[in-house]
Amino acid sequence: MNISHIINELGEDRSLYFNAVAPPIVQTSNFAFDSFEAIRKAFEDENSAYLYSRGKNPTIDILRKKLAALDGAEDALVFNSGASAIYCAVIANVKSGDHIISVDKPYTWASRLFDNLLPRFGVTTTYIDGTDIEQFKAAIRPETSVIYLESPNSLTFELQDLKAVAELAKQHGIVTIIDNSYCTPINQQPLALGIDLSLQSATKYLGGHSDTVAGVLTGKEEMLQKIFNEQLLNNGSGISPFNAWLILRGLRTLPIRLAHVTKTTEKVIAYLKKHPKIERVIFPFDENFPQLELAHQQMKGACGLFTIVLKSDSYSQIEKFTYTLNHFLVAVSWGGHESLILPQAAAIGPVAFDPTIEKHRMARVYVGLEDPDYLIADLEQALAIL
Ligand SMILES: *Cc1c(COP(=O)(O)O)cnc(C)c1O
Repeated sequence: MNISHIINELGEDRSLYFNAVAPPIVQTSNFAFDSFEAIRKAFEDENSAYLYSRGKNPTIDILRKKLAALDGAEDALVFNSGASAIYCAVIANVKSGDHIISVDKPYTWASRLFDNLLPRFGVTTTYIDGTDIEQFKAAIRPETSVIYLESPNSLTFELQDLKAVAELAKQHGIVTIIDNSYCTPINQQPLALGIDLSLQSATKYLGGHSDTVAGVLTGKEEMLQKIFNEQLLNNGSGISPFNAWLILRGLRTLPIRLAHVTKTTEKVIAYLKKHPKIERVIFPFDENFPQLELAHQQMKGACGLFTIVLKSDSYSQIEKFTYTLNHFLVAVSWGGHESLILPQAAAIGPVAFDPTIEKHRMARVYVGLEDPDYLIADLEQALAIL
């Protein structure tokens, strides 16, 4: 389907709302019924009728249609956070005694689910670095029910061969789930490669303005219907109409924001790679990236998030450098208009900081929508203190 059609038209019937160009925020909890038969049908399948906004809502429906089409999926569900999308996708596919294979260091709240919550219900997880298909083969057990992927991850950007993992999983009847937040459907289409469920933190690129927390999950209608009924309705993790509207607004500019960031990031990275205080840059489309070939095979582009390794053995110098930057905020998250930096040292602390460990000198950088020369000049003056 044409992406301009999806983003500008699909799912929108303006004749229903005064020909308004922007869709309405249908800010209601409740919907009234004209007949016993209609309300009975809605009780039977809440995904088929407007009954109550914890489930189905017209504003959210427009977003679901667009997000499904962007991923080439039969259906999409939208959650109140990316973490909810992870939780519901995983919980729907495990039972007591099951086993999960996950890539190393997935998003924090995925690993907390695997390490803290699921073991209480008899579900165990094996972590693998995921760069070699043989690791997946070796980790599969008869009770493995889920393979959890994040490609690339958002600090060191390791990839998994999505097509190969999907094929292997199908042979064993294992459900594959991927966190596709980094690429978005614009740069990577996991379902077309055979992955069963694709999720994203819509807080990042889809929203794009750092003003909404949301998550999306796409896949086959049958699976999503099950997740809608068993998880989303039960734990009340659906998005609100207002936040759905903000994501709809963000979507209008998604392709142009990504196209812009792709160019500006290239320029910022080229500058940093030449700087004497930068040991290396980790970015999936960099010529030195170990999985560059796989990146080109399954990704159309990479976004504004990358990691730099600083040449400094001083915790306080790294802190000073960070706060000498005028146009990079020190914050988590990414995908908004504003540039960000997050040095690992901030979480490690001065006592544990050990410059002989490369990771301790890493800083994750996010290039926002600013002009690249504006950002480069800022980096230049701050790097001068190292
Ligand atoms: C932010 C993020 C999430 C979690 O999404 P929330 O919307 O913050 O709950 C999941 N995965 C990745 C890769 C993320 O960056």
